[in-house]
Amino acid sequence: MNMQVGARAERAAIYSRLSESRDGDDTNVVEQEKHARKLAADSAHGWTISEKHVYTDNNRTAAKPCFNPDDPTKPRRPAFAAMLEAAERGEFDHIIVRHLDRLYRHPADLQALVAAIGKHKVTIYQSSNDKHPLDLSVASNFLTASIMADVALYELNRKGERQRDENDRKRREGIAHGGIAGYGYRLVEQGKEWQLEQVPEEAERLKKTILRFLDGAKLYTLQKEWNNDGIKTRRGNPWGASSFRATLTKASNAACREGADGGLVEGGKWEPIVSPDQLKAVRQKIEQQSKDRHANHTGTATKHLLTGIAKCAACGGTPMRVSRNRHGDFLQCPGVVNSCRKSVDMHVAEMKVEDEIRARLMYPSPALLEATKDDREAATAMRVELADLKDSGKKITEAKASGAIGLDDALALLQDNKTKRDALEDDLGHLERRMAVAGLIGELIPDEGFLDKHVRVQNAWADLDLHQQREVIRALVTMTVNPSEPGVRASKHTADKRIVIADGPLLASV
Ligand SMILES: [Zn+2]
Repeated sequence: MNMQVGARAERAAIYSRLSESRDGDDTNVVEQEKHARKLAADSAHGWTISEKHVYTDNNRTAAKPCFNPDDPTKPRRPAFAAMLEAAERGEFDHIIVRHLDRLYRHPADLQALVAAIGKHKVTIYQSSNDKHPLDLSVASNFLTASIMADVALYELNRKGERQRDENDRKRREGIAHGGIAGYGYRLVEQGKEWQLEQVPEEAERLKKTILRFLDGAKLYTLQKEWNNDGIKTRRGNPWGASSFRATLTKASNAACREGADGGLVEGGKWEPIVSPDQLKAVRQKIEQQSKDRHANHTGTATKHLLTGIAKCAACGGTPMRVSRNRHGDFLQCPGVVNSCRKSVDMHVAEMKVEDEIRARLMYPSPALLEATKDDREAATAMRVELADLKDSGKKITEAKASGAIGLDDALALLQDNKTKRDALEDDLGHLERRMAVAGLIGELIPDEGFLDKHVRVQNAWADLDLHQQREVIRALVTMTVNPSEPGVRASKHTADKRIVIADGPLLASV
């Protein structure tokens, strides 16, 4: 406080606001003011309140920034704007509000508030919680307030009020769009637009981390360091693998935006933390690591659908390999017995086996349904549980928005919810990959027309990676290649007849 003890009583301002739409604490402005006066008169305080410092914005939203970039002379909340001016002139020592969310909901308003009260160190008191006044000049308090503003904004965004077109335009023009700036940056107002500005300490850390990653440090090690050092995401959570990856690979780090083709488009007007080349290197490295992991996971580097699956009938079922000559691609017997070397056109074989697989999935036989029953039921149960978790996550956010629970509780509950969801999504993904067949059949849809069935199965099949497709083929069918009839030359035209497809182990075992 900037008062000299004994010189004069401390002075407080009161700010009340109620939105047209419910957007948080619904205590009406009269009630809000009453609570504030009670707090000021409290024997522990004894603050004086001048009537000109009682500010009320009734039926005013704080969802959008107070200062409209399109018309700065008309603030969306006139009383809020007037209060900031008075705070700048040092007319009072404290601001009393019912809840912080009465004062600001948009990070831009928080920034304006901090700028206005910083000069005279005005303290903010919440009448709902007078134990913790907020001196926003203290870094940790500002961080708390920022997180609360971000959470509030997040809730608002979920109400579907995003201005996508406007954001797209700004992205095209290299201007930062609204919302929450990523780690390393903050949003500042520049003329009529919002601009990204580096937060020096964060930008420095992000840059060092990226350079160390390029230098060979492990992603997980770096992520762990951030968590050990107490660095939090913008939502106030510890870093997970995906949020950490996303932060390191953000286009804005190099003053770029995402191009339509997945590349980077340069030309952002803000100061980059790394060069576009460095950012591209980070992306490539992360992509390569994930490919390597997948290759290790599948164990083999098979590049073709039917390698090892098609068997040569002429020599007792030798697995065939892919070979290539000037006539095209072939499945060929490696000729371990009698230098067999029989071959068949690879593309004809692939088409034939895919047709067979599709037919079996579109009209699953009772045997196939029986064989995949447990997995399909397990997957269905997991999907239901996942939907429930998503639903309760939404309810937590709504409860926070309506003031039914506090920020700390909401963050803890959301964190817990997310941990459970991540684990379940992992399990489900694992099950779906392992039992790709069950996943492909999905639920039986009554009265589904031929075309719908065809499209659904076709798309599901196309979504599988090569390893998964091979697993499905191995489970559903066996494939034998007979030799050509005596006197008939092997060719594309005879290939189809020579390939024999029968029920695979999944069906044979029932
Ligand atoms: Zn053979």
